[in-house]
Amino acid sequence: MSYAMRSLVEDDNRYLKSFRLFLECSSEHQCMQDFIHVILPDILASIGEGKANLNVMGVGSGAGEKDTKLRLKHLAVTVDNQVVEPSAQQLHLYKVLVSQKPNLDYIKFTWNKMTATEFEKDWREKNYTKKMDFIHMIQMLYYVKDPCATVSFYQSLLDKKGKLLIILVSDESGWGNSHSVTTGDIKTYLDSKTVSYQSYELPSQIDITECFTEGDQRGELLLDFLTEVFNFSGTAPAGLKARALELLRHPDCSKEVEGRVIFNNTLGVLVVDPLQ
Ligand code: SAH
Repeated sequence: MSYAMRSLVEDDNRYLKSFRLFLECSSEHQCMQDFIHVILPDILASIGEGKANLNVMGVGSGAGEKDTKLRLKHLAVTVDNQVVEPSAQQLHLYKVLVSQKPNLDYIKFTWNKMTATEFEKDWREKNYTKKMDFIHMIQMLYYVKDPCATVSFYQSLLDKKGKLLIILVSDESGWGNSHSVTTGDIKTYLDSKTVSYQSYELPSQIDITECFTEGDQRGELLLDFLTEVFNFSGTAPAGLKARALELLRHPDCSKEVEGRVIFNNTLGVLVVDPLQ
């Protein structure tokens, strides 16, 4: 057995597979969908102030499942949508989704196959001054080196009435005990800068029962997603693996319901205002 552990995001294929499985085992999509349909429309109502064209940006959009559910049509005549996403596969899936969905022809998509940091560098080098009405980064900030610096740069792109939407796991979730960045970390940063924002908590869960069956393929794939390590079961030293499994079912992270292990995946939402 090799002890060289590597990051899951380096393997596009395995990341995508484990992400799909995670979505299947969790209520994440449903709770975000509820947020997008019930709470977000009121937040977005103020962004464009009757502009004919809105500038929107998705950072780490994945396959665009959330992006294409945003209800923007009544807010403007046309929408310019910058998509920043480093994975070729995800971008491809996003394009396929757009081609299949009716009524998206008022949106002009610009595809940027880049990381958030590469896009930032490109933007600075080209001295762009365009301002954004709405930027969202949904479940993305785990993958950048300096999440606070990233938030700060993208906030600086907002127009006067613009909003930056950040969704991450909440510090109230089982993830609060791990090294993962949470909305709590971002709030601490925003408070230190006296930036104004609104915050919401979205209860959500993951059924992680299969992770505890030795040799279970789905369990192993899900464990990869939870640890962000490629083939965690096969490459982690035995002690680390045991500790990870113990932590995952610890009462701080999970509860047992009818023989299933249910991990607390509460999401945090921050809606950040532009700097005044
Ligand atoms: N927002 C989507 C996808 C979340 S998965 C959703 O909620 O469904 C995280 C996404 O971030 C993946 O598509 C991944 O390719 C992308 N990503 C990984 N590293 C990134 C980086 N450094 N900058 C921008 N996006 C990144």
